[in-house]
Amino acid sequence: MKNQGLGDWIARRRIKSEGDTALIWPGGSYTYDEFADRVARLTQALADRGLAKRDRLVYLGNNTPDFLTTFFACGALGAVFVPLNTRLAPRELEYMIEDSGAVFLVTHESVRSLARAAAWSSGIRKRLVVDGEADLPAVESLDEVVAATEPWTLDVEVTLEDPAMILYTSGTTGRPKGAVLTHGNLTWNVINAIVDYDVTRDEVAMMMSPMFHVAALSMGALPTLLKGGAVVLHERFDGGDVLRAVAEHGITSLSGVPTTFQFLSEHPDWESTDLSSIRKLTCGGSAMPARVVEAYEARGLAFSSGYGMTEASPGATSLPVTKTRDHVGTSGLAHFFTDVRIVGPEGDVLPPGEAGEIQISGPNVIREYWRRPEATAEARDGEWLRTGDVGRLDEDGYLTVTDRLKDMIISGGENVYPAEIEQLVMEMPEVRSVAVIGVPDERWGEVPLAVVALHEGAEVTPEDILSHVRGRVAKYKLPRAAILVDDLPRTASGKVRKIELRAQFPALPDDARAPS
Ligand code: ATP
Ligand code: MG
Repeated sequence: MKNQGLGDWIARRRIKSEGDTALIWPGGSYTYDEFADRVARLTQALADRGLAKRDRLVYLGNNTPDFLTTFFACGALGAVFVPLNTRLAPRELEYMIEDSGAVFLVTHESVRSLARAAAWSSGIRKRLVVDGEADLPAVESLDEVVAATEPWTLDVEVTLEDPAMILYTSGTTGRPKGAVLTHGNLTWNVINAIVDYDVTRDEVAMMMSPMFHVAALSMGALPTLLKGGAVVLHERFDGGDVLRAVAEHGITSLSGVPTTFQFLSEHPDWESTDLSSIRKLTCGGSAMPARVVEAYEARGLAFSSGYGMTEASPGATSLPVTKTRDHVGTSGLAHFFTDVRIVGPEGDVLPPGEAGEIQISGPNVIREYWRRPEATAEARDGEWLRTGDVGRLDEDGYLTVTDRLKDMIISGGENVYPAEIEQLVMEMPEVRSVAVIGVPDERWGEVPLAVVALHEGAEVTPEDILSHVRGRVAKYKLPRAAILVDDLPRTASGKVRKIELRAQFPALPDDARAPS
């Protein structure tokens, strides 16, 4: 039987897109022929070194061509690609390498010391390094290995049910879990993205987020490559480089998270850059601040905001490209082949307008976490996945994501969603970031506390922050105090770790204990 998985995509695309550009990076570019040839040679090289179906290969590196080459080579062999976040500490990497049981490591010269620290003592048997000298006995240079190997010509039987990736969740609410993404999960996510984002053959797509977060890979790069478009890769996000690339390559599609879009619009070159080639902006991962939406609106650009998670490969909903202006602030409609429902505390499906837990189902949603049967059972409600997020659907099916269940504060019996208060505080231009958490209170059970980091040199007092919110929300939602800090604790993917904040602020500060 043929390989039904993703491993065959570039070889098939080569026939239909001969001569077209597949990848562009600051140092060069590949046509589909060149890209397919490199994938085939690396596939053979990995097979020669013993990588077999279902073996796990860890990839540690940023957005470079060999990230994608290795991804497709794994797919061709039915091996499982495990991309890790290069911002993690060696100890965290070690945990994921061991947990995944990886036997092979491909790493990039720029993060090699990190890789060495993390993986030298683990079960890894083979190592390849991209763009670097193979100066250690157990390490080979990927470039040399590829140059010395003939292209792979065999077929491994791979079905849509076979695992393609293990992807660790961000660890915002606890220890990261390995989500097992099958070839089918990824394929259906890519189809959802092509349908709902109108991805076309003439697409020139740039991802501002690293591909080790599945969104950039699976909503950005893979749909573009399946359609025969071009993918532009920068190893690291730099606002100026992105703006130059937009003008130079005529980028048609730009994707990222709210913070990268914010950085871009605050860059000195923002006003002077011609953005007319851009047809769509896709973004997700957390709520988009209103002032960022306005900055793009002023340039005639609107966001297709989406809601997703690692477990959905990752798209669950998105704002259709034709409706970006009508439903600003929502995360749009369920993707074409995915369903969303809202469930109450008793397990009852709630009608439009009512807030409850968001549940999703569809062929892009994972069936299991890697080696974690209890976590898998906890996350499932029959065919549905419990997301742990709170939201509501309107009459037309548009989803508004309110917050995480675990972050919800219950004060005097009323639900307080921190995200609502955070949006208000973020309106203050002096504020760089904010997190609202619940702290125990004898009388109310819990009360909200705002933890705020200001822009450098900003002169704002905690009282200024409270008075900005006062009168604009119900009294029980008003933070009891605001605390100024230098920085908020974040995950490697940039999300605020409220678990850590709650441990850091187990009670209201003494001077905030005024009776109310
Ligand atoms: P962990 O599951 O390990 O605690 P995580 O949930 O942060 O970490 P990810 O899969 O990277 O790991 O993130 C998915 C989560 O991000 C969603 O469950 C949701 O809480 C949040 N999120 C995603 N998109 C949006 C959005 N458009 N608006 C608000 N929150 C969002
Ligand atoms: Mg999660």
